[in-house]
Amino acid sequence: MIADVLIVGAGIIGAACADALAGRGLRVHVVDARLAAATHAGMGHLLILDDNPAELALSSRSMQLWRRWQPELDDACAWTSCGTIWIAANDAEAALARHKQATLAAAGIASEWLDAPTLARAEPALRTGLAGGLHVPSDAAVYAPRVASWLLARHPGRITFTPARVTHLNDDASVQSSAGCLQAGQVLLAAGLGSAALCPELPIFAKKGHLVITDRYPRQVRHQLVELGYMASAHQAEGDSVAVNIQPRPTGQLLIGSTRQFGREDTEVDPPLVSRLLRAAMQTLPGLAGARAIRTWAGLRPATNDGLPLIGRHPGRGRLWIAAGHEGHGVTTAPATAELIAALMTGGAPALDATPYRPQRLLSRP
Ligand SMILES: Cc1cc2nc3c(=O)[nH]c(=O)nc-3n(C[C@H](O)[C@H](O)[C@H](O)COP(=O)(O)OP(=O)(O)OC[C@H]3O[C@@H](n4cnc5c(N)ncnc54)[C@H](O)[C@@H]3O)c2cc1C
Repeated sequence: MIADVLIVGAGIIGAACADALAGRGLRVHVVDARLAAATHAGMGHLLILDDNPAELALSSRSMQLWRRWQPELDDACAWTSCGTIWIAANDAEAALARHKQATLAAAGIASEWLDAPTLARAEPALRTGLAGGLHVPSDAAVYAPRVASWLLARHPGRITFTPARVTHLNDDASVQSSAGCLQAGQVLLAAGLGSAALCPELPIFAKKGHLVITDRYPRQVRHQLVELGYMASAHQAEGDSVAVNIQPRPTGQLLIGSTRQFGREDTEVDPPLVSRLLRAAMQTLPGLAGARAIRTWAGLRPATNDGLPLIGRHPGRGRLWIAAGHEGHGVTTAPATAELIAALMTGGAPALDATPYRPQRLLSRP
């Protein structure tokens, strides 16, 4: 019996879509080449971003859905209710934080401005002289590869899996793969950066990022600490950039990010850029100077030109659907992406307006 939907890609997006579709009673077949892709390389920070209304809508809906998953996640998913503190280094950044607070409040998301003494009490390891911080308590962190496996196992019998590399998407909802031809009622392309190789009109490109993890130490950081300059770096359109983002892991390790590089599709570690990242992190958290880094790696974020993912039906290929291009925010936004895909594919009422994410807005050859 052929599946209702064949999903290409079992990263966090493909896995979340498989779970949502199977949850609506569909038979889902997932095919994945088991490449160590973005989901395995990322930070797993679940955070609300508010640079534009579509990003805010997708991330805030996702956080609601993450809260539904949370009680069922197993320990290996490493859910941590760490919240985020957006660090304001000076008065200009404090003004940005206030603006962010107002935007979040308008969307019903609670946050709290911490003045300099309150910030120092909340996170004594931070450097002195900061203007303050915006605390968003609902943000969290997970170990995303484990969440992807957990999602794929939630509907036994309704989700099946083939480890294989897809080499071609046919127009009849079948694909050519290293395991032969696979057929379904519809195909959902959720192969992250690999989506562009299979569907060249998709404008998805790589933004390379490095992360460093320290050895285990007695806990000195309690929240995910993010520079307010982080989003400027995230949306920078060219050149190499660094913005500090420090995550306390349940193990006592600190995960330190991150960098952004354009035009690089390799995952080689770039030592000068990592040194730049670590210098910046040590300025923010001086105690890091005595910590030992035990691993450094790089991954590729699947990015689009307007910073929003492609979610919806391919406008020129009726039985092909797309869920890809989530850049540095795909772990956070996987649940609402999956909910949207499941609603659109099954004719249900989407919880969000799907228009801002429609693939046709960016397709070079619809
Ligand atoms: C350094 C870094 C830090 C990040 N930090 C965060 C963070 O803190 N919070 C957050 O929300 N997001 C973060 N991200 C972004 C997040 O990791 C990605 O947006 C997300 O993982 C994308 O998921 P995906 O399933 O679309 O793609 P991927 O995880 O890349 O998965 C794609 C899957 O498709 C498969 N595939 C590809 N081509 C083929 C093919 N031809 N045939 C079969 N299978 C194929 C691959 O094997 C892979 O399993 C970070 C990313 C990086 C690189």
